[in-house]
Amino acid sequence: MPGLLFLASLFEVELSVRVYNNVPMNSDKQLIVISDLDGTLLDHHSYQFDDAQPALALLADEHIPLILNSSKTAAEIIEIRNALGNNEPFIAENGGGIFLPKGSGFMCVTLGRPREEFLPIIASLRHQMALSFTGFCEMSIQQLMDCTGLSEQACLLARQRDFTEPLLWQDSEEALHLFTRALAQQDLQAIHGGRFVHISGLTDKGKSIDWIRGYFQRQHNRDVEVIALGDSDNDIPMLAQADHPFIVRSPAHSPPTMPGHRALISEHMGPKGWNDCILSFFRNPEFQNR
Ligand SMILES: [Mg+2]
Repeated sequence: MPGLLFLASLFEVELSVRVYNNVPMNSDKQLIVISDLDGTLLDHHSYQFDDAQPALALLADEHIPLILNSSKTAAEIIEIRNALGNNEPFIAENGGGIFLPKGSGFMCVTLGRPREEFLPIIASLRHQMALSFTGFCEMSIQQLMDCTGLSEQACLLARQRDFTEPLLWQDSEEALHLFTRALAQQDLQAIHGGRFVHISGLTDKGKSIDWIRGYFQRQHNRDVEVIALGDSDNDIPMLAQADHPFIVRSPAHSPPTMPGHRALISEHMGPKGWNDCILSFFRNPEFQNR
């Protein structure tokens, strides 16, 4: 894979925790970390993040904000954010909305197209084109549990959608191709992933990064450098906007290809790889100066 650097040899050094006092930091910049969740900070199978604790502790000690950026809904991210003890803004539904803590709740900066606005377009296209699919909005909790394998509580959180609508596709590949073209004419996109096709406006995980960068520049009154971590194709727009992009290796697929090939790829997978990326960044000045 030409142009991509591998961290394997760097990670052969045994990593120990809390030895960072002598780490050279670029003190005139405010660092922030923006991270995907599934398969990146959270284990692909168990959804745990225990292996990332040393790096999470480092970020907390150094007062470096960690911003979660996921295709999950705000309701789902809030649960994970609470488990992490995280109080920072977060980005939900594939860049659809930025949620800023406000009082006991959140203020949403809308970047995506509101779901209630495009649900009628989807329904109209289904009728016109005689397509077969079932949207999340049409499914009972039991149906959602049956087709996702999620618990009832998880389905309740996953159904609270503002900017994306997953469709259980029950038609041909050719019909999906025609449907995708018809959606594009309405400034909508269909992202194919597993059994579901995800419909949204023309947002992605990268379009929110500039907004977040400006937000923290104003908060800290100095330039911001972004460290970003992701494991999949849908993380590439986010990684491309970062000063220091890291790809976390996944057990489910090979690392995505990143144009510009600046991203480093972890040796380990999921939260262990996430941990290695963050600790290596702070231990190696050459990473910080890339
Ligand atoms: Mg992921």
